[in-house]
Amino acid sequence: MTATIIDGKARAAALRGEVAAGVARFREATGRVPGLAVVLVGEEPASSVYVRSKGRATAEAGMLGFEHRLSADTDTATLLALVAQLNADRRVDGILVQLPLPPQCDAQAVIEAIDPDKDVDGFHPVNAGRLATGLPGFVPCTPHGCLLLLRAIHPDLSGREAVVIGRSNIVGKPMAALLTGESCTVTVAHSRTRDLPAHVRRADIVVAAVGIPGLVRGDWIKPGASVIDVGINRTEAGLVGDVAFDEAVAVAGAITPVPGGVGPMTIACLLRNTLVSAGQRDGVETGM
Ligand code: NDP
Repeated sequence: MTATIIDGKARAAALRGEVAAGVARFREATGRVPGLAVVLVGEEPASSVYVRSKGRATAEAGMLGFEHRLSADTDTATLLALVAQLNADRRVDGILVQLPLPPQCDAQAVIEAIDPDKDVDGFHPVNAGRLATGLPGFVPCTPHGCLLLLRAIHPDLSGREAVVIGRSNIVGKPMAALLTGESCTVTVAHSRTRDLPAHVRRADIVVAAVGIPGLVRGDWIKPGASVIDVGINRTEAGLVGDVAFDEAVAVAGAITPVPGGVGPMTIACLLRNTLVSAGQRDGVETGM
């Protein structure tokens, strides 16, 4: 058996197209376009690449992009002042502070300073609480993208066994909350989990968000399972995921490649959240 390769690039392109159409409708209704502010502190190469591609995608969707590049020695007070300014700026519907921040910056204080209604990354505790309690709010972009990919394969996820590997606030925890919301039976595994392979073998759905190249082996996977690989690991062999793809593809029913799987969905979901935010601010239905 060979798994269906889940084409995240194509799904993301379709979503970006829907967002661009929504932006055009929003502009017609309000006479303005949604705005996304991205803040980058320092010049960490991976972060710089992400910020550049976010800027490009923002422009392609017809939105206004505001890029704030600050030096690596920026302190927390300066960042908080910038966030306050962006919170008050009517042109800005979404604020994203690229993580990780340098060690002298209090990342939690910065996240908590963002207006929850402009928190298009969904990292503010108010939005985490909304997700945990089933209220509408901004959902972190990567797990939201994973859910959209899963829904495209399984329109009804109800009752399925899901194993999420990783419990970060950015991916693992919100992913588990989303799958619980879909009525999956969810296990969250992490570095202290005993016998990870045994948990994965039960799973109809595996989401790996760890940061260890090839951690999940082919013989851990239940035949026919859907495997979502969030991992982005730079190795000598290039970019690889947390799943041993060549092994897993022979067992799984469907699997995301790295690159070209989850990654493109993250930016598409960010654009979607920015449009939703603009719609909420101006009382316009965006169709998202
Ligand atoms: P974190 O480092 O914040 O979290 C990693 C998680 O993996 C932790 O919960 C940790 O457990 C768990 N873990 C570590 N070792 C093991 C192990 N041996 N077995 C089981 N669990 C383990 O990472 P992120 O959640 O931020 O990111 C995860 C991966 O996803 C990274 O490769 C990252 O680059 C990628 N990523 C990709 C994105 C995309 O757009 N595609 C976006 C965001 C991230 P514990 O809590 O016990 O320490």
